[in-house]
Amino acid sequence: MVNVLEVEEKMETEKISWREREGIKYLVFPRFEETDLVIHAFTSRPLDLRFGRRPREGILRDRRQVCHILGVNFLCLTAGEQVHRAEVSTVGREDEGRGALTQEGAIPEVDGSVSDVSEVPLVLFTADCVPLFFLDPVKRAIGLAHAGWRGTLARAAGKVVSQMEEVYGTRPEDLLVILGPSIGPCCYEVGEEIINLFHHRFSDGRRLNLWEANREELLSEGVKDENIVNSEICTSCHNDIFFSERRDGSPTGRMMALLMLSSN
Ligand SMILES: [Zn+2]
Repeated sequence: MVNVLEVEEKMETEKISWREREGIKYLVFPRFEETDLVIHAFTSRPLDLRFGRRPREGILRDRRQVCHILGVNFLCLTAGEQVHRAEVSTVGREDEGRGALTQEGAIPEVDGSVSDVSEVPLVLFTADCVPLFFLDPVKRAIGLAHAGWRGTLARAAGKVVSQMEEVYGTRPEDLLVILGPSIGPCCYEVGEEIINLFHHRFSDGRRLNLWEANREELLSEGVKDENIVNSEICTSCHNDIFFSERRDGSPTGRMMALLMLSSN
């Protein structure tokens, strides 16, 4: 049995940093922290924060506690439905709190969101999918998306970039993008048909590399290589710390990715 704390210390790199408050452990990204523009977090086990697998009261209680620690109003959490496609919603003040209390309240049929409104916390819930955090420190705008194989194939990451360009005038070369913990090329075996859909790119035998596919997508949209930070933490390898749909079987719990522009 590997000691969880030891694993966490080993996982501590210049790309990620662990925080623990009131018994809740979550990750933050130093590249985002040093901008002082956002509040952000990626949670860990045992908190299952997506509606659906356990009683709603428990989820709301846990979400409230995480938000309390981060200094975020949990009634303002703003989520998309998450349907494994690549629609991106532009979140304004009027969308604040959609999906905070019920799954039905989430913004329908979207897998990504962008916003330039302060203090509207964007959230999404993942187990093995790649959570992508976007920050344009120049225009003060953010984006959040997730990409499993379907979202990656549908160019979810690129769609967030182009939506930020279109809506906020973001220049891709200014963007900072973080790839959070998700299933790595070490563990992500897929069927031949999926390898074929990717035209045998980003794969080694049956193993698909979602990290590389998303990095490539971001580069092709003009994001600079040095501004793409892959946390390189595999949820399946570190299944004692994170939920992994592959490792746990379906349905499993979901971590919460949260990103919010601070008030200036
Ligand atoms: Zn792995």
